Parts: sequence; structure tokens; C-alpha cells
Amino acid sequence: MDISSILQGGYHHPLARQWQSRRQLTKSMLMYPIFITDEPDASVEIASLPGQRRWGINKLEGFLAPLVKKGLQSVILFGVPLKCEKDERGTPADDPSGPVMLAIKKIRELFPTIYIACDVCLCEYTDHGHCGLLKTDGSIDNSPSVDRIAQVAVNYAKAGAHCVAPSDMMDGRIKGIKRGLIDAKLGNKCTLMSYSAKFASCMYGPFRDAAGSAPSFGDRKCYQLPPAAKGLARRAIQRDTAEGADIIMVKPALPYLDVIADAAELAPNHPLACYQVSGEFAMIHAGAAAGVYDLRTMAFESVDSMIRAGATLILTYFTPEFLEWLDN
Ligand SMILES: [Zn+2]
Repeated sequence: MDISSILQGGYHHPLARQWQSRRQLTKSMLMYPIFITDEPDASVEIASLPGQRRWGINKLEGFLAPLVKKGLQSVILFGVPLKCEKDERGTPADDPSGPVMLAIKKIRELFPTIYIACDVCLCEYTDHGHCGLLKTDGSIDNSPSVDRIAQVAVNYAKAGAHCVAPSDMMDGRIKGIKRGLIDAKLGNKCTLMSYSAKFASCMYGPFRDAAGSAPSFGDRKCYQLPPAAKGLARRAIQRDTAEGADIIMVKPALPYLDVIADAAELAPNHPLACYQVSGEFAMIHAGAAAGVYDLRTMAFESVDSMIRAGATLILTYFTPEFLEWLDN
């Protein structure tokens, strides 16, 4: 056998196998998505998302304290308003007594070391369930949508969010939010993480169950990206870096590893996030329950693939498990 044919000498030992990855999952790379509802004592299981719950403000301490002890460093908050009056412009999104605004303050007070990101969108709060404001014909009215989304983002930042993360996919909202943060003198105090390449995926189903955010008519295909649209994703990533995003995100993650790799090439000087969405999480659980693979092994393989593609930050419902698994 020729000398150049032999590779196995480089990975015969477990430690040497670890050295073969350029980067490995660490606890600081994990951001945990959590659902906050407006029933203060709620702790309600979400059937389609194994192990995940909707939490009320009074339950956050008991829920988060053990995770912080295990090394949780970052969360992203999603509001689940069940009792509020929704309207066409998503007024409850930044109501000072709404679940996200209260949760930001509560978590900052309870766990000052935790980095708090907030998803910014209107769909959980509009009566029509779309992510922006609508014209009378039911299509998106872009400019007032951007203004309203920027207003919500600034109000989350004023309440103490370390990061605002617009998931709405309206054109121009990164520029609008960045300008709003600067004008509110928060430009140097709040990170802007853009869901830049967010695809119109069928893998958001369990999330919509959890957040109650399905549109009442139509779908989101006019603002979320078509799954096969590689070029459009590249343009969205370039646009958002030019408009002032501090972090670029790709969503979903595992079926879009090529887009993560594209983002790493197009925005090499930005942190790169990806969101292992609810459907991916549910799929990994379902496969493990069916005996297709071991849950832990598959969870690591999925996330290691994202890191290999270029991700430096992972939003995942497996965060509590990873905090345990990384210790053992
Ligand atoms: Zn939305």
C-alpha cells in the first residue's frame, strides 16, 4: 500500500478523533428557545415538542435555576399570548404587561449572567396571524410593517433584552431596527441577530402549536424564502450584513447546511447562528423512539454537522440535554 493511502493513523484514538473537527460544540454556543405565556403560573407541556413547556412568569425561576447551574448562558424568548386582545398591528407584542416584556425584566433580575435574546415578530399578536401589517387586499404592507417591527424591537431592548432577533422576513427591517436602536441610544447595547435566510419550511408545525401563531388565512410564502432558493438566500444574507445585522441566522438548520456554508463564506466576519427548529427536534425524537438511532448520538451528529458547515451559535431545544451530555 502506498504511504499516501493511509489516513486511519490520524483517528485511531478517541482524542485524535476529536482533533479532526475544526471546532466542537461548547456550552457557550447554545441558545435555548423558551415559550413564555401570559398565564403567570403556567407550566403546560407542549405535546408535539417532547420535554418543552409553555412557562408563566412565576415559574421561570424554578425552570431556569437548574439549567443555569449546569451552564446555561443564553435564552431566546417567544411570547405566547393566550388572553390578550389581538389586533391588525400586533399591539400586544410590546405591551409593558405582556409576557415577553415581563420575562425580560424577570430573567435579568433573577439571573443577571444570562444573555437574553428576544424573537421579534408580529404573528403571535396580530388577529390575522401574519408577520407584518396588511393592505386591504390581504397582501403585506412593507413599510408600516418595518416601522412597527422596529418599534417592538426597540421596546424589547429598552426593557433590557441583550439581543433582538427579527424573524418576520419583511424587506428592509434590519436597517429599520438598527436605526431605531441607534436613535434610542441603544445601538451599542443591543445585538441585532437577523433571521436572514428563513425558509418557508414545513418543519415549523410543532412551534406553531406551541406559540399559536398559524396564519388565519393564506401562508407565508410571499416573505419566507422558497426552500430551493439558494441564490435568494445568498442575497438576503448579503443584504442583512450590509443593513447592520450583528449576527446572521439560517433557519431551519439540518436541511439547509449548504446555506449555512454559504453564509460562512458570505459573512465570514459575523457570528453565524442556525436554528434547529421544532420539526427537526420532533423528527430526531421520533426517529429515536422508533429505534432508528440513539437520541444522544443523533442529536450530536446533527449539531456537529451544523458546526462543520460553519455555525458558531445554535438555537436548539436540545440545550438542556446538551448541558448534561457535555459534562458526561
Ligand atoms: Zn412571524
